Amino acid sequence: MNEKWIEKNIDDFAVEPNLIDYDKEYQRFSWDDMACGFDGLPSGGLNIAHEAIDRHANSELADKTALLWLGQDGERKTYTFAKMKKETAKFANVLKKLGISKGERVFTLSPRLPELYISVIGILKNQNVICPLFSQFGPEPILQRMQRGDATVLLTTKKLFKKKISPILDELSELRYILLLDVDEHENEKVLSFSRLMDEASDIFEILHTEAEDMSILHFTSGTTGMPKGVVHVHKAVYTHYMTGKYVLDLHPNDIYWCTADPGWVTGTSYGIITPWIHGVTNIVDEGEFDAVRWYKILQDEKVSVWYTAPTAVRRLMRIDNEPTKEYDLSSLRLIQSVGEPLNPEAVIWGEEKLKLPIHDNWWQTETGGIMISNLISQTIRPGSMGRPLPGIEAGIIRQNEDGTVTEISESNKEGDLAIKVGFPSLFRAYLHAQEKYDKCFVGDWYISGDLAYKDEDGYFWFVGRADDIIKTSGHMVGPFEVESTLMEHPAVAEAGVIGKPDEMIGQLVKAFVSLKSGYEANDELKRELIGFGRKKLGVAVAPKELAFQENLPKTRSGKIMRRLLKAREMGLPEGDTSTLED
Ligand code: ATP
Ligand code: MG
Repeated sequence: MNEKWIEKNIDDFAVEPNLIDYDKEYQRFSWDDMACGFDGLPSGGLNIAHEAIDRHANSELADKTALLWLGQDGERKTYTFAKMKKETAKFANVLKKLGISKGERVFTLSPRLPELYISVIGILKNQNVICPLFSQFGPEPILQRMQRGDATVLLTTKKLFKKKISPILDELSELRYILLLDVDEHENEKVLSFSRLMDEASDIFEILHTEAEDMSILHFTSGTTGMPKGVVHVHKAVYTHYMTGKYVLDLHPNDIYWCTADPGWVTGTSYGIITPWIHGVTNIVDEGEFDAVRWYKILQDEKVSVWYTAPTAVRRLMRIDNEPTKEYDLSSLRLIQSVGEPLNPEAVIWGEEKLKLPIHDNWWQTETGGIMISNLISQTIRPGSMGRPLPGIEAGIIRQNEDGTVTEISESNKEGDLAIKVGFPSLFRAYLHAQEKYDKCFVGDWYISGDLAYKDEDGYFWFVGRADDIIKTSGHMVGPFEVESTLMEHPAVAEAGVIGKPDEMIGQLVKAFVSLKSGYEANDELKRELIGFGRKKLGVAVAPKELAFQENLPKTRSGKIMRRLLKAREMGLPEGDTSTLED
C-alpha cells in the first residue's frame, strides 16, 4: 500500500455505498439486467424523457422536487416531477404543433434557465434530437455547429438572438423557427414567443414509439485538440447513465445533487440533466458562474450531498488560502467527483485536507456518452489515477500495429492507447457527416479513445496525455500531465501547461507554462527554482528545460488547458479553431 493512497473504511459511511465489492460487481454485471430498472414505453421501445421524468411523476415521487433552480440574483424556483411532466409535455406539444417531426434537430442557446431544462426533456419527448450550445459562444461557432448539425429550431433569449443570431440568420436557411424564452408576443411568423406557445399548449403528451437506437442527442466535443466534432448519441445511452449514477455518483433517493457543468458540454447533459432524474434525485441548477463564495454557500445552504465538478474549478478553489469547513457547514456533502481533464494528485489530497473529502477522479469523453473509468466512493483512491473501469465497461491499453491491427498490452505500467471494448450502450453512433473519421476510431472490437494511459498491477488506469500532446524528447515519451502535476506540488504554482517544443538536437524540448498563486512574484529566481524543483523530482530527461510564467493559461470554455494553443503561440503558428477558447 502506497502511503499516498486514500483508503476507505465501509464503517465510516453514513450512507451505505451502492457498490462495495468492486470485483464481485464487475464479474456479475450484465447490461441486460439494466433494462429491469426502466419502464419502457407502453408500445415497447425506450425514451429518455419518459424514464427521467414521467416514470417518477407517475409514481410516489410525483411531489418530490426534481429541479431546484438558483437564479443569479438569489431567486429560487422548484419543480416537482409532476410539474416537470406537465411542462415538458407542453413543450413537446409546442414542437408537434409546429410540425417538427421525428429526428429533426432542435438547438438550444440559453443561459441555465429552468426553461432550458424543461425544453431538453420536451424535445426528447417529441422524438427530436437535442443539440445544446454553450450560451457564451459567438456567432461564428454557433453558425458552424448549426449548419453542420442541420438545425431546424433554435431556442434562445432575445438578447442572445439579437447579438449572436441576427448576424448569421441569412446563412441558416434550414432553420424554420426561433423560439424566444423571454418575450411575451410572437415577433413574426418565424420568431415566436416560447411562453405564448407554452400557454396555448396542452400539458398532456403521449410519447410515440421510440426505438432505443433512435438518435437523442447531438453534442459537439470541446475542441481541445482541434475542430469540434458532432457526436451522435441514442436513447439507449440512458443505461450507462443509470449504471454510472448508481456506482460512480452513488445516488440514493435522499441525495441533493449538484453538477456544475453547463449543458453546452456533455457532462452538463449526461450528468447535469439525465442521470440525477433517472435516479429520481433532486437536481440543483445554478444560473451563476464560478464564484468560490457562491459555490461554498450553495453546498452549505442547499445541503448538497453529491457534487460533480471539474479540475479547473477545484484548482480555482485551491488558489484561495482558506479553511472552507470552518467557514461553511459542508457536513451534508458525502461525495465529490470530478471530470474533464486530469485531476492532479495535489487536488485529490487538497480535498481530503480542506473539504474533509477526497476528490474522486473519473474519465470519459463526449464519444463515450457516460463515465467509463472512475475512483469509487467505497474503494481506495490512488491520487493521480483515474480509477478502474466500471461494471459493464472493458478498458484496455493497446498498441496499434503497422498492419492496422491492435494488440492489447498485458504488462502493467506500460503506456499505450486507452481503448474501450465496444458494446456498451452509450458509445457514440457517429461523428455527424464524418464517417471516415468515425471509422478510424475503431479497430476490431476496440474503440480507440485518442488518450494515452497505462494500467497498474491492480487495474487502476493512469492518464498519460492525449496522443496529440505527447512529447518525444531525446528518445523518451513524456506525458504532459506528469510534469504538470509535479510542478503543482511546488507551493508557488497554481496551474501548469506543458508542451513539446521542436528542437533540432533532442526532437522536442519540454517547455512549461506556469501561473502562480497570489503572493508569488514571477522572476528569474523563481524560474530557476522551479526548473530545479522539476529536475529533482522528475529527472533531467523529463523535467522542463524551459519555463515561462503566464498569468492565465489558455483554456476551453469548459476549463481544459489548450496545450495546442500554447504550442502554436510558442512556435508562431496559426491558432486553428478557437471557437471554444475562454475569453
Ligand atoms: P476535442 O475532442 O474536440 O479535442 P475534448 O476531447 O476535450 O475535445 P471532451 O469529449 O469534452 O472533448 O473531453 C474528453 C477528453 O477530456 C478525454 O479524451 C481526455 O483527454 C480528457 N479527460 C476527461 N476526463 C479526464 C480525466 N479524468 N483525466 C484525464 N483526462 C480527462
Ligand atoms: Mg476528444
